[in-house]
Amino acid sequence: MAVAAAALVYIHYTDERSQVEVASITRARAMVSALDREFATTTAALSALSTSPLLTPTTLMSFHAQASQALTNINADSIVLVDHSGQLLVNTRRAFGTPLPKLDEAPLLQRMLATGKPGVSDLFRGPLELAIVTIGVPVSYGGLFAAIAPERLSPILAEQKLPSSWRAIITDSTGTIVARTHDINTLLGKKVTPDLLQRMTGPNESAFESKTLEGIPVLTAYSRSRVTNWTVALGAPLAELTEGIRQAVFWLIISTCAALAIGLALAWSIGGKIAYSITALVAPARALGSGVEVTVPTLDLVETDEVGKALSKASALLHYTNDALVQSEARLRGIIESALDAIISVDEGQRIVLFNRAAETIFGYPREQVIGVPFEQLLPERFRVINAADIRQFGERGPMTRQLGTVGNVIGLRRNGEEFPIDASISQITEAGQRIYTLILRDITERVRSSEILERSILEREQFVFIASHDLKTPLRAISGYIQLLERAYSPVLDEKAVDLIRRTAKAAQRLDQLTDDLLSYARLDTDLKAFAPVNCRQVMNDVMQLLEVAIQETGASITVGELPETILGDRTQIVQLFQNLIGNGIKYHGDRPPRVEVSAKRQDDQWVFSVSDNGIGIEAEHHEGIFKIFRRLHTQQDYSGTGIGLSVCRRVVDRHHGKIWVESRLGEGSIFYFTIPDFRGSIA
Ligand code: ADP
Repeated sequence: MAVAAAALVYIHYTDERSQVEVASITRARAMVSALDREFATTTAALSALSTSPLLTPTTLMSFHAQASQALTNINADSIVLVDHSGQLLVNTRRAFGTPLPKLDEAPLLQRMLATGKPGVSDLFRGPLELAIVTIGVPVSYGGLFAAIAPERLSPILAEQKLPSSWRAIITDSTGTIVARTHDINTLLGKKVTPDLLQRMTGPNESAFESKTLEGIPVLTAYSRSRVTNWTVALGAPLAELTEGIRQAVFWLIISTCAALAIGLALAWSIGGKIAYSITALVAPARALGSGVEVTVPTLDLVETDEVGKALSKASALLHYTNDALVQSEARLRGIIESALDAIISVDEGQRIVLFNRAAETIFGYPREQVIGVPFEQLLPERFRVINAADIRQFGERGPMTRQLGTVGNVIGLRRNGEEFPIDASISQITEAGQRIYTLILRDITERVRSSEILERSILEREQFVFIASHDLKTPLRAISGYIQLLERAYSPVLDEKAVDLIRRTAKAAQRLDQLTDDLLSYARLDTDLKAFAPVNCRQVMNDVMQLLEVAIQETGASITVGELPETILGDRTQIVQLFQNLIGNGIKYHGDRPPRVEVSAKRQDDQWVFSVSDNGIGIEAEHHEGIFKIFRRLHTQQDYSGTGIGLSVCRRVVDRHHGKIWVESRLGEGSIFYFTIPDFRGSIA
């Protein structure tokens, strides 16, 4: 704005200056015209006088009077007649007859004599030592002159009504000051400034900047007369010209300063607000960095207020996340601390970095004593190398969890020197670029002990079964043998009652034998455990047919085998027993009709549903559940012999094969026994 204003001021100044130049030149020209007119008027009057008939040597006295008379109409001080030699003949200032001087130099006269034309002289000291200007016309004698005192020309300067501060001068053709608005008394007859003098030799009119004789800087304009070569020059003080500019510049500076001050004040206040707002953000930002919860108050500036709100929000979020983190850490710590298993973390150097409460209990060390200590201290010396290598190897295989060693392989060492079996698993995570291995160790002393007990009890039961089958059956067989002997040898001599008793005893011994067999087979279900293997169903059926051959023949039973899976996964001996019991029952519990038993299976979902149906006596619904319990029988020995163990064996076999067994039957309408065996192919698929 200041630059634009300065440019405007400058343009205005140059514009005004050129206007003043033009106006000044015009005025100077007008004054030169006035001067020319003045001289022309005087010249005309002199010319008229020069034609006077009294201008003869004899009538010069009359001419003096006539000239004196004419002077009243001419703006001049005196009229002088000079002859060719420069001798003054008449001077109206002097009475006729007074001796008059001869001019030493008379340049105007010379010029007039040469050209025969009237002319104007420059300023010179006249014969009376007064500065004068003369206008002359040539006459036969020589020249007729009008002498004019310089002050007669002053009105020409006054006519223009110039401002009082302006300077105006009239100079003759040599640049000598003839009239001047100021200080004419001292400057009359002096040359104008060399500057102006130099210019005056150039064009007729011009304007330029210079100084007056008093040294005032002015804009000078001059105009030179073509007729007389006299010049009028005007000087307008530059100070006046630039006054407007000075004022404009003054106001420009004032307004620029004011604008600057307002700008500064605004910048100060807005800057202060910004600084305050930003400073207000610093403390919360620092606090946020150190994790303290912050709330930033409303700030004056929208932008900083937004930042403040974002800070508050970020802080809240941070706290929320922190809380969640703390909570989850606490939860994790809780889990770790409340775990029943020892949880021990070790770093890459296998030094313990975490040791939970269970570890303290199991190993007997307070955690302060083991943190930073090599993990191998918790192992018996002979295992140290192996286990350390195990952990390292695991680390090389990548992050996962796996079992460390097999049960009983890892042995721990308590603080009191006691060794104990450990079930160990290990996992690896990378935390801050460092591998951390976490071992979960379970003290399996109890488990190992109870499995030992179990093994022992199984062993004991096997021994029992062995004893039962040998030590119980041997005397039983002896009893049966003796009774047979008794019957054979003594039945002819014994009465009928005694024989009947012997037979009953024999039957009882037989039953006892059967019961012993059944009990043994039931007991062996737990002891003769064999691993599951594919079992061919057809072969199973063949075996069962052979085992039941006698019963089939005795009853004339027909056994039909329908669709069966080729193989199932199971314990072959037990599967044979299962079918033997079910088909055997189907044969045994027939009514009046010869028994007809059908065996088949169908696939349902991912299991096989086997069915063994008969056309026998059937079972009341209320017994459908009970018959699978051991020793549960629905009949007396007289009706159907049996021990009540068969179906309970069936149920245990099916249980062990992860299946179910049930019966569908109505009294007198036959029965269908169902059981399921999972299809291992299905489970593999
Ligand atoms: P046991 O046949 O030695 O008596 P089980 O456990 O095999 O013992 O059978 C229990 C009871 O269930 C039998 O006493 C019998 O009453 C009944 N039962 C078993 N199978 C059948 C069948 N197919 N038809 C009718 N009743 C049966």
